[in-house]
Amino acid sequence: MKAKLLLATLALSALALTTPSFAADKGLIGIAMPTKSSLRWISDGDALKSQLEAKGYTVDLQYAEDDIPNQLAQIENMVTKGPKALIVASIDGTTLSDVLQKAHDAGAIVIAYDRLIKKTPNVDYYTTFDNFGVGVLQAKSLLAGLGYPAKKGPFNVELFGGSPDDNNAFFFYDGAMSVLKPLIDAKTIVIKSGQMGMDKVGTLRWDGAVAQARMDNILSANYSDGGRVDGVLAPYDGLSRGIISSLRGVGYGTADQPWPVITGQDAEVPSVKAIIAGEQYSTVYKDTRELAKTTAELVDKVIGGGKPEGLDTKTYNNEVKVIPSILLTPYAVDKSNFQKLVVDSGYIKAADLK
Ligand code: BGC
Repeated sequence: MKAKLLLATLALSALALTTPSFAADKGLIGIAMPTKSSLRWISDGDALKSQLEAKGYTVDLQYAEDDIPNQLAQIENMVTKGPKALIVASIDGTTLSDVLQKAHDAGAIVIAYDRLIKKTPNVDYYTTFDNFGVGVLQAKSLLAGLGYPAKKGPFNVELFGGSPDDNNAFFFYDGAMSVLKPLIDAKTIVIKSGQMGMDKVGTLRWDGAVAQARMDNILSANYSDGGRVDGVLAPYDGLSRGIISSLRGVGYGTADQPWPVITGQDAEVPSVKAIIAGEQYSTVYKDTRELAKTTAELVDKVIGGGKPEGLDTKTYNNEVKVIPSILLTPYAVDKSNFQKLVVDSGYIKAADLK
């Protein structure tokens, strides 16, 4: 009996000693990211990979350069390797149904990362930010930059939306319009181009060059008479930079013709620099390190048989079912608080803003 106990104790301590090598073999996680053309997705991918590797998973991280068939092929390839989970930030949130069916059939957990995956029952969880709230922050900071309500307007504003194949774009736009629409109706805000609604203002693939070209057209068609653009609602820093180039091209950014108030999103380094330089008014900071951490913890918990708690089960219906979601908090950033929010928090290094 004693000998048996001793053996068992020895076996247990041997197990404890070898735990690290067991921990290093918790299985494969596939991560599909949309593009490397925007810094945020690079940070997201890096943070997810390191978090999951630290928890003992092997990670297959792929970027699809905003090409839908490419992302599909990458995920198909991941599924053949029998992953425990797939974490997908989709390019087009409606094109993945078949491959996710296969993934689920093979027992993988599917997480929609930052962008909702639609029209499929095979999504288990969604981790993101309060996307409607992002739009509200953008619109409120636009108004703050315009000096409203101390200044009464009317203000000439143009509207830009994100990619129509990204569900987030509608949440950003709707959030912004929940603030701006009453002022548009009251003619405090005037949209000289008349272009409103995601079908008119959407920017395919979030492409800055597309936004720049649209701004060029808006300027020549509506502002050649000497009228001035006072504000631009831009939902992403990459679009804001395109819009700024367009405005610069017709002489904005001088003492006579100061920059309009231009919003953004993601607190990307070049855009925080543009905020410091006074070209862009604001951005929205979403701590992607936190999103990655939350997602890695969720995945690990579910793979381990646990049940995540405190999820939002109302906001995100993917047209088949409501996807239980974790919604993190976004923050408006401008010249007055970038230091505290994005530098002191370590999100951007002070040296990178020089
Ligand atoms: C993300 C934004 C990002 C945009 C363009 C959206 O889905 O939520 O943070 O600015 O895609 O990459």
